[in-house]
Amino acid sequence: MPLTNVQARDVQSLLHPYTQLHKLVDTGPLVLEHGKGVFIYDTQGKEYLEGMSGLWCAGLGFGDEELIEAAREQLSRLPYYHLFGGKGMEPAIELAERLKDIAPMPVSKVFYTSSGSEANDTQIKLAWYYNNARGKPQKKKIISRVKAYHGVTVMAASLTGLPGNHRDFDLPVAGVLHTDCPHHYRFGEAGESEAEFVERIAGNLEALIEREGADTIAAFIAEPVMGAGGVIVPPQGYYPRIVEILKANDILFIDDEVINGFGRTGNWWGCQTMGFTPDTISCAKQLTSAYVPLGAVLLPEEMYQAFVEQSRKIGTFGHGFTYGGHPLGCAVGAKALDIYKSRDIVGRVRGLAPQFAARIGRLADHPLVGDVRCSGLVGGVELVADKASRRSFDLTQGVGLACAKACEAEGLILRAIGDTIAICPPMVISAEELDMLFDRLETALDTTEAHVRRENLR
Ligand code: PMP
Repeated sequence: MPLTNVQARDVQSLLHPYTQLHKLVDTGPLVLEHGKGVFIYDTQGKEYLEGMSGLWCAGLGFGDEELIEAAREQLSRLPYYHLFGGKGMEPAIELAERLKDIAPMPVSKVFYTSSGSEANDTQIKLAWYYNNARGKPQKKKIISRVKAYHGVTVMAASLTGLPGNHRDFDLPVAGVLHTDCPHHYRFGEAGESEAEFVERIAGNLEALIEREGADTIAAFIAEPVMGAGGVIVPPQGYYPRIVEILKANDILFIDDEVINGFGRTGNWWGCQTMGFTPDTISCAKQLTSAYVPLGAVLLPEEMYQAFVEQSRKIGTFGHGFTYGGHPLGCAVGAKALDIYKSRDIVGRVRGLAPQFAARIGRLADHPLVGDVRCSGLVGGVELVADKASRRSFDLTQGVGLACAKACEAEGLILRAIGDTIAICPPMVISAEELDMLFDRLETALDTTEAHVRRENLR
C-alpha cells in the first residue's frame, strides 16, 4: 500500500527508536491520534485495544480527566522549576512523601529523574559515590543479568543484558558483569527441577563473586519480574537465595521497579510479589501513568548520610538533571498515586489476575505456544517452532513480529520481544475488555500458525 501523507512525512523526518529501519521506509508507521480508556485510535479512525499500556507505562489508560486536570493546574501555577542549589517546590516534596509512605522498605530520600534509564544510571553513580564515601574505592563493579532490561543510556544499556542493545554500540562498558537469567523454561537443563535450577544459578552467582572478588563489586541490579527481556517470572525461592548471597558479600540490591512498580504484579511493588526487600529502588513509567516523563530513585538513610559526609569533605553533591523533579511530572505523579489508592488499583489487578492467568494459560495448548507466564496483569507468550523440544524459530523469520502484526489487524496492540508476545494492558481494563484482548490474541495466533505453515517456517 502506498504511504499516506502523514506516514510519508513521518519517514522523511523521524529516526524511530527500536524499529526495523529498513522496513519502515516501505510500510510506514501506524500513526495514532487519540485515546480513551484502554483504546487508541489511528489517523484512519481505526480502534485498537492497547494491550501494552504503550510501553508498559500508561497504567491508568488514556484520557484520564483527573490526571489531565492535575497537569493543567500545575502548568498554570508553576510550569517549571528545579531542585538545584537548595531550591524546592511543593509538588516534588509531596510526591516524595507519598513515595516514602508506600515504599516496601524504609526510604530516607527520593531523587528524581526524567526516565527509567536515568534512574538506573543514577543508581550506579550513587553506588560508586557511596563506596568512595565509605572508603571502599575498589568496590565498583555491577552485576546484572542476561535478558535484563534497564534502559539505553551508556550505563543503563550496559546493564541491559540483550545483544541488540550492545552489538555495534560498543557496549557493555567495563565493570558490568552479567549473571544467569532466572528463566527455567529456557535455561533449565533437561530434567532439572525449578529448585535445582535456582541452586545452580545461585551457585554461579557465588562463583562469579568469588572469582571477581566481593571487594570489587558494588551492586546487583534486577527487575523482580523481568519485562522487556521477555516477561520472565523467576521461580519460587530465587530471590531469597540471591539476597542471602548479596548480603554475605556486602553488595547492594538495586531493585528496578520501572515496569513492576505501582500495582502491575498485584502488589504496590514487584519485590513484594517476589518476596524480597531491596536496598534501593528505581521507578518511572506508571509513576505518572506515563502522562508526563518522570523517574525516581528511592534511597536508604545510610546512603544519604554517606553523601552528606562526602559533601562536608568535598563540597557540592554533583549530580542532577535539569528536569529532575519537574513540577508537572511531580504533580501528575502525586495525582496518579492518589488514583491508585482511591480506585484501589492494586485490588483491581488482584481481582483480574485469575482471569488473566486462566486466559493466558489456555494459550499453552496452541500449536505455536511453548510457554506462557504471568504475574498480576503482565504476561508473556513464547512462540516456538517445536513444542516438545522447545526449539525456537530462527529470529530472522520474524514469527513474533508476524504475530504482533496479526494482532494489529485484529485491533489489538501487543509487543513482540523476539518470539515472545508481551501483554501488559492498562490496569483499569474491565473483565470484558480483558476477554476481548485474549479473544483477539487467539485469532492472531491462528493467523500466525497459518502463516508459519504456508511459509514452511518450521
Ligand atoms: N528499566 C526497566 C525495567 C524498563 O522496562 C525500562 C523501559 N522499558 C527502563 C528501565 C528504561 O526506562 P526509560 O525507557 O524510561 O529510560
